[in-house]
Amino acid sequence: MIIIGGGIIGMLTARELHNAGVDVLVIERGPLGGESSWAGGGIISPLYPWRYSRSVNRLAEISKTIYPGLAQQLQHESGVDCELITSGLLFTDLKERQQAESWAREWSVDLQVITDAHRLHEIEPQVSTAIDCGLWLPDIMQIRNPKLVKAMKGSFDALGIKYFEHTPVQELVIEAGVIKGVKTDAGIYTADKVVIASGAWSAGFIKGEKNVEVEPVKGQMIMFRGEHGLIKRMVLSSGHYIIPRKDGRVLAGSTLERTGFDKTITDDATVELRRAAVEIIPALADMEIERQWAGLRPGTEQGIPYICSHPEIDGLYINAGHYRNGVVLGAASARLMAEMVLGQDPSINPAPYALDAAH
Ligand SMILES: Cc1cc2nc3c(=O)[nH]c(=O)nc-3n(C[C@H](O)[C@H](O)[C@H](O)COP(=O)(O)OP(=O)(O)OC[C@H]3O[C@@H](n4cnc5c(N)ncnc54)[C@H](O)[C@@H]3O)c2cc1C
Repeated sequence: MIIIGGGIIGMLTARELHNAGVDVLVIERGPLGGESSWAGGGIISPLYPWRYSRSVNRLAEISKTIYPGLAQQLQHESGVDCELITSGLLFTDLKERQQAESWAREWSVDLQVITDAHRLHEIEPQVSTAIDCGLWLPDIMQIRNPKLVKAMKGSFDALGIKYFEHTPVQELVIEAGVIKGVKTDAGIYTADKVVIASGAWSAGFIKGEKNVEVEPVKGQMIMFRGEHGLIKRMVLSSGHYIIPRKDGRVLAGSTLERTGFDKTITDDATVELRRAAVEIIPALADMEIERQWAGLRPGTEQGIPYICSHPEIDGLYINAGHYRNGVVLGAASARLMAEMVLGQDPSINPAPYALDAAH
């Protein structure tokens, strides 16, 4: 079978299917993991998870249980440490306290309400003294995206999972409502099953009414050179977040821009992201911005991904539209997709992820 797109979603899906004994080929237009999956922050939680539907939270909670074992397995197979660390996530206000508490009860997540400034600064001493209360989720993990995609590629090589890079798929080959393969510059590759896992580009393959509604949403991010061990916690404040990496580098994100398939980085974003970051962690004012980049999230209106078969094209599947949460939803999403492709009973209700459902 063929998977179109070697981002995190395509790669995780390929790995699941390969491990179940399926002969998989991933066809990727650029390098494996070179798009949104490289650019992301790698927080293993939706930002403000209580704002999302149960169908998003269900996938997130399953993925959280998969990542520790997956990261170990990937390191074993590839020799690459994905830097999965439990740095916790600190929200810097109590505005959504009630919703957060009821979400935490429903999903059995450790959430602590911090009303004491001293305690808050014990959790993250570098947070601005202007911040004196918040919500603390100590168990939230993060993973370093460029390392994750590198480890996934290494695991493909170790496991013998086939892939083509720099090979754009031009179109699907469909005969009498049945998928037959895909057409590329290098020729036609036949397969009785094809998964569209092409991130923000996923809407381009299907003609007709029953299509995925995914559009690119640009996210810019800056990275400070940082100082080893200075900042320990992920911090989220009014939509802006700080992610301290293992080596001391600090990511600050991110913008949300609907400007089509354009990955230009802008000075406005540098200024805005830096301003917000320094407001949260004043020590960042003295640190150099080492790098800035942009990625195109596969945007859906409610952030609910498509994980489904196509009702009118036999053998065609879709795993796309994970919007801001492709890493945290990806592991569970790949598992569900593999169950569907293998004809197994799905371990969770697949209805919310169907083509006709609201996304
Ligand atoms: C700034 C930013 C911060 C983020 N932070 C987080 C976070 O903290 N946590 C989280 O969970 N998520 C986060 N995300 C979202 C997450 O990165 C995405 O949801 C996820 O990467 C989507 O994965 P994907 O495989 O669907 O898409 P992609 O990584 O974009 O992969 C799709 C692939 O398909 C390929 N492709 C497209 N068309 C074709 C074709 N015709 N033929 C062959 N190949 C094709 C592309 O080249 C691409 O490599 C963030 C995203 C951004 C941009």
